[in-house]
Amino acid sequence: MAEIAIIGGGPSGAMCGEQLARAGHKVNLFDEHLAWEKPCGGGLTHKAIQCFPFLLDNSYPKKLVHSVELISSQEHHATLEMPHPIVIYSRKVLNGLLLERAQAAGCRVQQSRVLSVDMLPQIPTDRWSLRGNDQIYPSNCGRNLMVMESAFCGTK
Ligand SMILES: Cc1cc2nc3c(=O)[nH]c(=O)nc-3n(C[C@H](O)[C@H](O)[C@H](O)COP(=O)(O)OP(=O)(O)OC[C@H]3O[C@@H](n4cnc5c(N)ncnc54)[C@H](O)[C@@H]3O)c2cc1C
Repeated sequence: MAEIAIIGGGPSGAMCGEQLARAGHKVNLFDEHLAWEKPCGGGLTHKAIQCFPFLLDNSYPKKLVHSVELISSQEHHATLEMPHPIVIYSRKVLNGLLLERAQAAGCRVQQSRVLSVDMLPQIPTDRWSLRGNDQIYPSNCGRNLMVMESAFCGTK
């Protein structure tokens, strides 16, 4: 079992957290906002729904878009009926859903802005220690750290 820290609890971090926790690892996920209304269309394609049916089969509020109307600059209209709907979520709802699944799988979800990451030399393995805006989060034995690509942008 590895002790893992994930920085960033958007869709990438939350899904990683869920799957790593399900695989039996000790996972700590940090996000400064947790579920929040990030600027985003919130649209999920049919491919995404096929891969992750729980994104449609749940009681969370969402809208299903079945047709699209295209309007040209000359005011010509064309309506396309789609065989499979696009599913639209508020990002706060979607992030909340994914973080709840991560938590239910055993992932420890913490609200903190991670300011820096230190690797502490230890025997038999190095350990990570995260400095959050609220406190220091030392690992017990872990040296595994995942920083989501869009997390940490602009971190000082
Ligand atoms: C205007 C716009 C519209 C979009 N529309 C769509 C769409 O309709 N459909 C679609 O599929 N995609 C859409 N996207 C893309 C989608 O938003 C991203 O692909 C998706 O959010 C990436 O998920 P992520 O988990 O990698 O990153 P993010 O969702 O950005 O999550 C990163 C998380 O890290 C946290 N974080 C950052 N730094 C730190 C730190 N130092 N400490 C702790 N936490 C930290 C943030 O709070 C955030 O929750 C859109 C994007 C934009 C900008």
